[in-house]
Amino acid sequence: MELTVQDAVAWIKKSNEKIQANKDYLTDLDQTIGDGDHGINMARGFHETAEKIAGQDYTSYADVLKDTAMTLMSKVGGASGPLFGTAFLKMSQALQGSDAVDHQTLTSGLEEAVNGIKQRGKATEGEKTLLDVWSRMADFFSHETDFAGEKVAEEAKSAMEQTKDMMATKGRAAYFKERSIGHIDPGSASSFYIFEALAEVIEGGT
Ligand code: ADP
Ligand code: MG
Repeated sequence: MELTVQDAVAWIKKSNEKIQANKDYLTDLDQTIGDGDHGINMARGFHETAEKIAGQDYTSYADVLKDTAMTLMSKVGGASGPLFGTAFLKMSQALQGSDAVDHQTLTSGLEEAVNGIKQRGKATEGEKTLLDVWSRMADFFSHETDFAGEKVAEEAKSAMEQTKDMMATKGRAAYFKERSIGHIDPGSASSFYIFEALAEVIEGGT
């Protein structure tokens, strides 16, 4: 597996398309165990990011992710904006200097993203947050040797679905206590779309 600068651009573009297409669903999820702004936050942030990326001529994968991080941080808002921003920034730092991204660099990038999310959100696995998807994916990439896009997407979907049975102990959903059980975490759903987009890029579609 090797991902080029164009793949990084395609990853963000596809993530944006999926988030726009599922904006109302993300808002519904956040209406159930939050304040109902997650779809709007993500759609705004990813729209701005895709616009920013489209207008540039990149020579490195890390630069694409850095611009993504900066735009998400300033445009998404809510609790999730700084967290997604941190995830992409940490990935960008870990990939600095690599022309193309292979299995090993992508894995270390994801591991750094997980560390960044944990630090920033003071969260750990099992608290029903987007960390639950990012952490499962970092684990998956560190153990897996078969990178069929389909398997990547399946793993991300299962990680998102796993948040349904968890009780939220971080973020707004934590106010719902036991009532947060039985619903998918909104930030995990948007993270699923980001990894589904990555899976498609790995599979070779741009
Ligand atoms: P807000 O909660 O401020 O309205 P959003 O609705 O955009 O922000 O994002 C909510 C999502 O952010 C949650 O579904 C969860 O995945 C994630 N989240 C919230 N707090 C934390 C945290 N402390 N650590 C990790 N993720 C968090
Ligand atoms: Mg919200």
